[in-house]
Amino acid sequence: MTGILYVVATPIGNLDDISTRAIHVLSQVTRIAAEDTRHSARLLQHLGINTPLVSVHDHNEAGQVQRLIAQLVAGEDLALISDAGTPLISDPGYRLVAAAHQANIKVVPVVGACAAIAALSAAGLPSDRFSFEGFLAAKASQRQTQLKALANESRTLIFYEAPHRILECVQDMAAIFGADRRVVLARELTKTFETIKQMTLAELCEFVESDTNQQRGEIVLVVEGAPEDSGLMAQQELDALLLKLLKHLPVKATAQLAAELTGHKKNALYDRALELQKESL
Ligand code: SAM
Repeated sequence: MTGILYVVATPIGNLDDISTRAIHVLSQVTRIAAEDTRHSARLLQHLGINTPLVSVHDHNEAGQVQRLIAQLVAGEDLALISDAGTPLISDPGYRLVAAAHQANIKVVPVVGACAAIAALSAAGLPSDRFSFEGFLAAKASQRQTQLKALANESRTLIFYEAPHRILECVQDMAAIFGADRRVVLARELTKTFETIKQMTLAELCEFVESDTNQQRGEIVLVVEGAPEDSGLMAQQELDALLLKLLKHLPVKATAQLAAELTGHKKNALYDRALELQKESL
């Protein structure tokens, strides 16, 4: 009989956020593979668990995987944990879980905290479809390229960000997604200074700049998706059309014809055509 690989979520701040099942599994397995054994030793001590820890992190995972798979094949049950939250979610463990599947070893998730899901659940932004983007690149030019590629994404976007980069990241988002896009800052979730605030990207730039406490701790940003393409002409193109028509027609006829051509509302077009006419005088 081969063993089972349990993928166990641990708290992201509040130590009470661990399930009874997680405690039971961590106590029963032969070994726990952890990202940082010293960090996890403190959690296990708090829980009164004596199971031996082995280290599996990004730099030794490739080498450790074979050893752990051999132990699983020999019938040992193992648990995988990371420093906080759900393993593999912007954390190590992918190679081990993939190798376990290849070796026909049963993989069992023991569910619990995940900062991305906790932030989304409290954000008050559409949650029916979302895209988890993890950490953006540290280099400004690469980050801006990544953000430009996401500018028209209509699903809610979830990002992890380091506190020392939060201001420049939010400024780039405001410039690329638009200052009016709604965003939720979810900082220090489940901890003493938990902050969950919804505002526009422009307001968030100001908030983070004016209060350096907001540039500390652990941060998730949940950003509203781009409006779904309505198939209607964008404002810039609409203005160009109205200006062209205004050269040959009075305001009322301009609005009438533009409404027929574009599907936009005649009254709104009339008001906008009047404004454009005044501006061009
Ligand atoms: N595996 C973890 C999970 O399930 O959320 C994520 C690990 S990743 C290395 C760490 C990042 O997650 C932090 O930089 C932050 O963006 C986010 N994070 C973790 N704990 C958090 C918390 N308590 N509040 C807000 N964000 C948190």
